[in-house]
Formats: sequence, C-alpha cells, structure tokens
Amino acid sequence: MDLKVCPFCQKSVSPNDIFCPSCGQRLRIEPFALSTTQIVTTYLISFFLPPAGIYYGIKYGKQDNEKIRSVGKIAILLTAVSLVLTLIMIGLSIKIANDILRQTYLNLPEGTGIF
Ligand SMILES: [Zn+2]
Repeated sequence: MDLKVCPFCQKSVSPNDIFCPSCGQRLRIEPFALSTTQIVTTYLISFFLPPAGIYYGIKYGKQDNEKIRSVGKIAILLTAVSLVLTLIMIGLSIKIANDILRQTYLNLPEGTGIF
C-alpha cells in the first residue's frame, strides 16, 4: 500500500486520510462531491424557488469539478425557465381575467381590453 508522510508530524499516513491520524492536521481538501439526491434537490429548488437557483449557480459554478459546474449551470437555466413560465402564467392570468371582465361587465368585442 502506498504510504505518505504527514508534512506536520512526519508520521506515515494513508493516502485516503483527509486528516492525519497522529496529529490531526488536515492533509488534503476533501473533494466537493454531489450525490444524486443533492443534484435532484438542487434542480427542484431552482425550479420552484427561483432565486435559490442563482445561489446554487454561483456556489457550484466556482467548483473545479466540471460535473458540479454543469449542475450549477442547469440550476441557473431552470431558474430562468421558471421565471419565464411565471411571467407567461401572470400574462395569461391577466388576459383571462381581462376577457372574463370584458365579457361579463362591459360586453365589449375581443381585443379592446386594457391589455
Ligand atoms: Zn501528522
């Protein structure tokens, strides 16, 4: 087995050790990894709570790992899609409300409303 030496106490450590078992010093930065659950959660939050997707986009976009960066990009994309869909829904709601009001109270021909 490939053994390394701790740069702080010179005792031998396993290459898989994140902390030295003898002196407790950090030997390497733990690689930032995402589980499938975390990725799915990120996408769901990005889509249903749009501003949060930007947070994930920034957080994951700073990582070295290409896969994690792409999760961040997709989170931003989902946020954008969600915002566009929200605007479309608002627009449609206004149009429907406008049509109902026009037909019910004003009895005006279509296309003559406020919007
Ligand atoms: Zn040590």
